[in-house]
Amino acid sequence: MKDYKPKNRLTAQDYINGVLKGDRVLLSRAITIIESSLDSDKKLAKDIVQAVLPATGNSMRIGITGVPGVGKSTFIEAFGKLLITKGHKVAILSIDPSSQRSKGSILGDKTRMEELSNLENAYIRPSASGTTLGGVANKTGETMLLCEAAGYDIILIETVGVGQSETAVHGMTDFFLLLMLSGAGDELQGIKKGIMEMADMVVINKADGDNIKNSELARLQYQNALHIFPLPESGWTPIVTKASSTNNIGIDRVWNDIINYKNLVDSNGYFIKNRNHQKIRWMYDNINEELKHMFYGSKDISKKLSVLEKEIISSKISPVKAAQQMIETFKKTFQ
Ligand code: GDP
Repeated sequence: MKDYKPKNRLTAQDYINGVLKGDRVLLSRAITIIESSLDSDKKLAKDIVQAVLPATGNSMRIGITGVPGVGKSTFIEAFGKLLITKGHKVAILSIDPSSQRSKGSILGDKTRMEELSNLENAYIRPSASGTTLGGVANKTGETMLLCEAAGYDIILIETVGVGQSETAVHGMTDFFLLLMLSGAGDELQGIKKGIMEMADMVVINKADGDNIKNSELARLQYQNALHIFPLPESGWTPIVTKASSTNNIGIDRVWNDIINYKNLVDSNGYFIKNRNHQKIRWMYDNINEELKHMFYGSKDISKKLSVLEKEIISSKISPVKAAQQMIETFKKTFQ
């Protein structure tokens, strides 16, 4: 089934022309090809991405994370609308780690960002699915490139702040924004210290009604907590700010700070340095994944591994020597 070729596919050039013209229908169809696991589509996807590459990169890539219920979709709806009134074209992509494990998804079940999705200059693409985070990250990364080639100059990549996917999103964005709530400890919000450390900005959302006082308290607490971390390589001191996404308060402040960040990292060279680093990292991540896949996917290897496991347990062979033998076997297998 893998080499089955769907009948409705166009030529690579048709997709390339469509994407470069900003044709939303062809953009969507090209993304479907990127998300496909068919061999014929994989080749087509590579040709499309390769061809549009010179038209990519001219955007601000913003990662947005926070636990379910913190207000991500409400925030993105308000933020996206603001950006569009300022003349930007905004693409919203999501990485939903839950869809890898179960059929359900945390982000995708409800109708999200309804008003934004009706605007001509917004493009919303729900989470790509896949069996590995690396696979999903590849698809989201390439989808991002297609969106840039189609003229979207702001890319928002959203993820649920509960697992490893934040690191993947951080690894493909220029600015990382963490949404939090007041009145709940870090543990309660399931936010790990590592995620706090990645944040260029923390937004205390739902700073409205009875929550206003607590939100200011939380803002001060998080601001202090962030000061404990060493200054990031970007030279930017992370900011903690308050917002009410439902009342549209503080949203413009977030954008102003992102502009300040961009000016800083453009002038100190970090923006380009980070982008270059991310591109190289992306290649190595793929090499590592592919090597692992080849190694553990080989029948000879897995047979030999189970024999060696027993020999290690009975102290017949040392773990280091066993590993060495496995690598030798691997080399022979692929000679
Ligand atoms: P997500 O799961 O992170 O995408 O969260 P949602 O955007 O779906 O928001 C969860 C709930 O919080 C919804 O009922 C929203 O209306 C509500 N909410 C979101 N932002 C705010 C806010 O700024 N203030 C208040 N009071 N409620 C909000």
